[in-house]
Amino acid sequence: MKKNLVIVESPAKAKTISKFLDPKFVVVSCMGHIIDLPQKELGIQIEDNFKADYVVIPKKQKLLTQLKKDAKDKEKIYFATDPDREGEAIGWNLKEKLKTKDKQSLRVVFHEITKGAIEEAFKTPRDFDVNKIQAQQARRILDRIVGYFLSPLLWRKVSRGLSAGRVQSVALRLIVEREREIQKFVADEFWKITAELNKKEAKTKQDKLNFFARLDKQNDKKIEIKNKKDADDITEKIKNNSFTVKDIQIQKKKKNPPAPFITSSLQQESFNKLGFSTTKTMVLAQGLYEGIELGEEGSVGLITYMRTDSTHIAQVAIEELRKFISGKYGKEYLPEKPNVYKSRALAQEAHEAIRPTSCFREPQSIKQYLSPEQYKLYELIWKRAVASQMNPALYEFTLVDIQAGEFLFKASGFDVLFKGYGTLYALEIDEEEEEKTSLPELTIGENLNLVNLTPSQHFTKPPARFSEGSLVKALEEDGVGRPSTYAPVIQTIISRDYVRRLKGYLFPTELGFKVSDLLVEYFPKIMNIEFTARMEEELDRVEDGSYNWINVLNEFYHPFKESIDFAKKTIKKEVVFSDQKCEKCGKQMVVKWGRRGKFLSCSDYPRCKFSKSITTGKICPEPNCGGELIERRSSKGKIFYGCSNFPKCRFTSSKLPE
Ligand SMILES: [Zn+2]
Ligand SMILES: [Zn+2]
Repeated sequence: MKKNLVIVESPAKAKTISKFLDPKFVVVSCMGHIIDLPQKELGIQIEDNFKADYVVIPKKQKLLTQLKKDAKDKEKIYFATDPDREGEAIGWNLKEKLKTKDKQSLRVVFHEITKGAIEEAFKTPRDFDVNKIQAQQARRILDRIVGYFLSPLLWRKVSRGLSAGRVQSVALRLIVEREREIQKFVADEFWKITAELNKKEAKTKQDKLNFFARLDKQNDKKIEIKNKKDADDITEKIKNNSFTVKDIQIQKKKKNPPAPFITSSLQQESFNKLGFSTTKTMVLAQGLYEGIELGEEGSVGLITYMRTDSTHIAQVAIEELRKFISGKYGKEYLPEKPNVYKSRALAQEAHEAIRPTSCFREPQSIKQYLSPEQYKLYELIWKRAVASQMNPALYEFTLVDIQAGEFLFKASGFDVLFKGYGTLYALEIDEEEEEKTSLPELTIGENLNLVNLTPSQHFTKPPARFSEGSLVKALEEDGVGRPSTYAPVIQTIISRDYVRRLKGYLFPTELGFKVSDLLVEYFPKIMNIEFTARMEEELDRVEDGSYNWINVLNEFYHPFKESIDFAKKTIKKEVVFSDQKCEKCGKQMVVKWGRRGKFLSCSDYPRCKFSKSITTGKICPEPNCGGELIERRSSKGKIFYGCSNFPKCRFTSSKLPE
């Protein structure tokens, strides 16, 4: 009997899938895209409706030959690539290149690599989805057009080898603008006055608690204290008043569980809670999705597909979650009806949220098979998914007004009445959490003891730099990010040294400022957030079949080409002279930008080719070396300091010595 061929993207996925299929299916891997636009030319015939001249990626030629061989004696070919646009296009392009017209080509789609999902998918194969393929092509072509025409302009103005792209340039702009806000920020001084109080008569342990109240009003007007002298004067005035409870308000509040993860929220939480970069999160998640060897059980896909913007959970999984919750935590944790969450308007409801493939596979029970990082991420995904189907947390806020002469203080406390989903997933109360303490039992009219009255100095804070987490959030809110783009966008601006990381926060380099400013000046449309968001939305509409992909490209290309032509005519290279003279010919040296940062070059280039690095001014700590330290970047984009006498002196350090 003839066998069938199944093609997936990766060996790990191939291994997990083959376990669930009977032996007449041979599963092989194509290792991602087989074809792409050519590297050295545009590869798009704009006049011919943006016809793309795809070529086989040189490194993949051998693999393609092998896949053709694999396909030869098979009856049917199943394309089981990932369930998003990218996966659809990889499968389709491969089908075109395999030239297997004599055989039946089928597309199978699943969002998790489990027995049930695989069997179901192979029972119901479908044709390729042309809309998805066109949406992916349109994005690839848009990005190519931008990169191809913009990059040479950056070379002319700034430095050779630089490149610009559509979405990542917008991300760079956000970071640059935030940095300018921070630079412009002037901190304002302000003072708080805090009273430490307790009850005059205390019987229970709770009653003996000291608690804190903050000065809020003077003669019914909000108080603002700007300096130490005022703070001291007011403190003096308050001191001799008696403190009386004036009003007590109790509010019961409900806090609903968070939605199960989609790509963006996973990346944010994984950064905030685990400190993982977006790229790291995606690499780990992909491993969990494709399958982990669980001892005797063999390779198992532990989570659903990790590129998704849908919060939908399959009915079977909901039922399993409900069974698990009532069994493990008790009926009071289980809502009457399953919780339903809203997704972005154009999100793919056919997709699913990121959840464990079985919630009964508790993190602890498979810990031994996971790396410590895989374990942390799996635990986060597992907890979030289970929590999302639990009851809300209930708590009680108590707000107390305390009068002291003409001054009014406020104290607040909160008690958790029912933890609900908070048992599993940390409750985020609100920003002023730190000031909410437990309060003793108080009654209106009651007099209190003043234990301490403390003025404290504070300053208004500048806006925070973006972290990878908050940048993903901003891109999502602005509508410019998509599940498949967040991680590569951040990766790109870092690897090009437009942006660097400092303690988890992103800040632009001098080069990043230059590139962003240039693009904003000459390509306001490309750098415009609303415009980029609209392009992304149109690509979504191509995918759902309600918009023509050629229209998207036309709408973009013609105005873009006009700004390119204008910029070509008007952009001039700026020359920055340094105060140093060329060691070879004595002419002035000029500052230039290279892939590895700034350097000095002879102004008589190309006649005189002398160039030198710009040193940090720090002397090399190697004994008898006398060189100076120079900032360098590794091929991976890490900054380090090396000696100017390299290769004679091989000193390097990740930090600049004091
Ligand atoms: Zn020279
Ligand atoms: Zn040295």
